[in-house]
Amino acid sequence: MTSDPAPVRILIHGASGRMGQALLRLAAERDDVVVVAAVQRSQPAQRVVDGVPHFAASELPGAPEFDVAIDFSLPEGFDPVLALCEQRGAALVSGTTGLEPEQREALDAAAQKIPLLWAANFSLGVAILGELVERAAAALPGWDCDIVESHHVHKKDAPSGTALALGACAEHGGASPRYASLRAGDIVGEHLVQFATQGERIELVHRATNRDIFARGALHAASRLPGRAPGRYRLRDLLS
Ligand code: NAD
Repeated sequence: MTSDPAPVRILIHGASGRMGQALLRLAAERDDVVVVAAVQRSQPAQRVVDGVPHFAASELPGAPEFDVAIDFSLPEGFDPVLALCEQRGAALVSGTTGLEPEQREALDAAAQKIPLLWAANFSLGVAILGELVERAAAALPGWDCDIVESHHVHKKDAPSGTALALGACAEHGGASPRYASLRAGDIVGEHLVQFATQGERIELVHRATNRDIFARGALHAASRLPGRAPGRYRLRDLLS
């Protein structure tokens, strides 16, 4: 009789945020992962919440052993968690957007040593939208291509990382996308990609109504990344 493999040990970075809270809640429902540390910018009000040890960002170097870090923080918090993963030989799953060019280069350098996945969007629907955008761009040479993204008022970076990733798909298909950003209310995330020419237009839209979809995608990736060869992975590499 074979026993189940040990659960993957996860460190959640950005634990007090909207995404961090969704990750903690959904991780507790799974038996293939266990959260061994929750890290947030400031000192936690409670040291242990629902059995999960909580730490301030300043305590990150002393965090317990983990197999993979899931990072949904802000660009200013990104460098220390990447460095810790490299130092410990742990995997990294990150959805933090608005990274600086040097931080993107650091991701490539770290991928020589550890398995990592950075994605602007962890939803399956957006992965499919990217494929549709590339096909539409290739089929509609000369059409105007505009990407309009809408998010809640707390989102800091603009255009969103997802809009830029969709724009890269459009460019791959030969289009030259322009961007517009709206910040309003509690919108989880909407992305409209419009192709227009004289007399007609096509609109491709994705609407996220619940951020649990991103947290589920990140947890799925985190459960599958440890133990893989160093390198950069895409969400679709880990789906099957
Ligand atoms: P939030 O503002 O609610 O939470 C941010 C978290 O980061 C908090 O826990 C805060 O304590 C922590 N933090 C901030 N600065 C830090 C630092 N210097 N060191 C350590 N921790 C620090 O934000 P959110 O809505 O949860 O989003 C977090 C990030 O994830 C953003 O970059 C957002 O754009 C991105 N995001 C990505 C996806 C995706 O699918 N890739 C989906 C949603 C959000």
